[in-house]
Amino acid sequence: MHRMLNLSHLLQHEIDDLYSAEEQIIDALPKMIGMATSPELQKALNEHLKVTREQKKRLDRVHQLLNKEYKKEKEKNKSILERLFGSGTKCKGMEGLIAEGQKMMSEDMDPQVRDAAIIASCQKIEHYEISGYGTARAYANQLQHAEVERLLQTTLNEEYKADDLLTVLALQKVNLDAENAGDTAVEGNGRDAMRESSSSKAGIRKTASARGAAKKSAPKKKSPAKNTAKKKSNA
Ligand code: FE
Ligand code: FE
Ligand code: ZN
Repeated sequence: MHRMLNLSHLLQHEIDDLYSAEEQIIDALPKMIGMATSPELQKALNEHLKVTREQKKRLDRVHQLLNKEYKKEKEKNKSILERLFGSGTKCKGMEGLIAEGQKMMSEDMDPQVRDAAIIASCQKIEHYEISGYGTARAYANQLQHAEVERLLQTTLNEEYKADDLLTVLALQKVNLDAENAGDTAVEGNGRDAMRESSSSKAGIRKTASARGAAKKSAPKKKSPAKNTAKKKSNA
């Protein structure tokens, strides 16, 4: 069993954990971009991939700054610290989040629904990073590492920005498209029911009023997908 000797060791551990997290994100993002359909979502993820590569470099700088400071101490405790902060550190949290996201994306789903799922997965990842960087920044502040704190704050701001952008994308477009994709399926079932029933007009009215009620709770919803579905049922 190794011990965390003080807060600077905890900070180094957090930095190594975040480094591993960023590396895993850099590996995973291209696959997520490849599975996304919305051009806006693809653009946002591509942008964040570039940002993430810079974040990894920023962590290298943090590492250098911390190593300089703790070099003497490191020599003294070499065997312990090597085990603690060796290159073998893998962020299990990020590994789990990415695995969960990839499992979800491999499910059979409508492309619009998958986009919503991709955003959900990415926001879990962002929130994990926000937590890790927030903690590390607080440690750096406590330890009066002004430069390290500044570097971590820069990345933290970028993670918040990425998270906010995904929220806007989800609320303004992707979730609505995912909801409409569901509408088409409901309408399909309705048509099947109509075929079986002799009173097809009653069936139409029922479906329309149900959709009207749903519309009230989600205003300003009008998309080409929905219009196409409507035309099909009218034909
Ligand atoms: Fe990041
Ligand atoms: Fe972790
Ligand atoms: Zn991020």
